[in-house]
Amino acid sequence: MTEMDREADLFYRQLPKVELHAHLNGSVSFETMEKLIARKPHLNIKHSMTAIRNGQHRTLDECFQVFKVIHQLVDSEEDILMVAKAVIQEFAADGVKYLELRSTPREETKTGLSKRRYIESAIEAIRQCKQEDVDIEVRFLVAIDRRNGPEVAMETVKLAEDFMLSSDGLIVGLDLSGDPTVGHGKDLLPALQRAKNCGLKLALHLSEIPSQKEESELLLDLPPDRIGHGTFLHPEVGGSDSLVDKVCKQNIPIELCLTSNVKGQTVPSYDKHHFQYWYERGHPCVLCTDDKGVFCTDLSQEYQLAASTFGLSQEAVWHLSQQAIQCSFAPEAVKQQLEQKWAELRPRVLN
Ligand code: 5GP
Repeated sequence: MTEMDREADLFYRQLPKVELHAHLNGSVSFETMEKLIARKPHLNIKHSMTAIRNGQHRTLDECFQVFKVIHQLVDSEEDILMVAKAVIQEFAADGVKYLELRSTPREETKTGLSKRRYIESAIEAIRQCKQEDVDIEVRFLVAIDRRNGPEVAMETVKLAEDFMLSSDGLIVGLDLSGDPTVGHGKDLLPALQRAKNCGLKLALHLSEIPSQKEESELLLDLPPDRIGHGTFLHPEVGGSDSLVDKVCKQNIPIELCLTSNVKGQTVPSYDKHHFQYWYERGHPCVLCTDDKGVFCTDLSQEYQLAASTFGLSQEAVWHLSQQAIQCSFAPEAVKQQLEQKWAELRPRVLN
């Protein structure tokens, strides 16, 4: 590494960052994965089954198989607490000052894990990190896995509603994710509408694959508070002007995960990433990791990749990270504290 590379690297690490799209079980680091594998040797899981290294690619379907493997390793309250604490500490060490972590509550009869205890364990991890003065604000989004259909989606919303009222504001919203080739968004509308009515913010994976135009039209009418990926929304890749109009008119921020999309092959290469389409239009874009463990990345690296691919100046990168504060689901007071932090750090980081 040259001196210039080292300096650039330091800039991206020191840059204060906001992470809004991170799936808990996809974010488990190499080190934590080693611990989990050692705890459950009988499963005979190799690290190569839980991570996609640089230069490797998988189909989206193969990516979803990876999550099934990880779920076997993370199946008790103890595991969730350990994994969530480690993930929060790792994001903090990477200079992330505000994190919205999302995860799909699961029940596991083998270990007596219930969906309620699943969420409680994640909340406990957030509380413990706060007590230990880890320098990061964390909030949680309860995820709906679309594969599980409308009834489970409704149950999940009710659970999220309960926690929204009892978690001291730590649960702020709902995520819709899971294999996009399974099910149709229209069946999930009642659950999503209910969530919205009770004040949960909505972060929805949208148009992650081609051929979801009709579904995206319906979901955009809710409207969601943020869009995950939105890879095939714009007409140049088979989306439509009407979809783009809806997103722009409602000014819905888009969570963009470069490495995830390239390794999962929904985008052919970094320079063809739809970041450019939205960024050029001045639309609110938030760089995120998606699954930092599975895709072997971190948020500093994602900023660096976006900057080198699309020729962003350090000033532009700073603006990008600061803009993400207003796209978060944090209450106004927290947003103000974060703005303050950015203002304090600016002279030290930007020169
Ligand atoms: P978890 O919810 O178990 O903490 O995180 C893993 C889950 O997040 C996966 O099983 C899947 O439902 C969801 N997920 C992670 N990455 C992606 C992605 O790129 N696209 C979609 N649609 N879902 C994802």
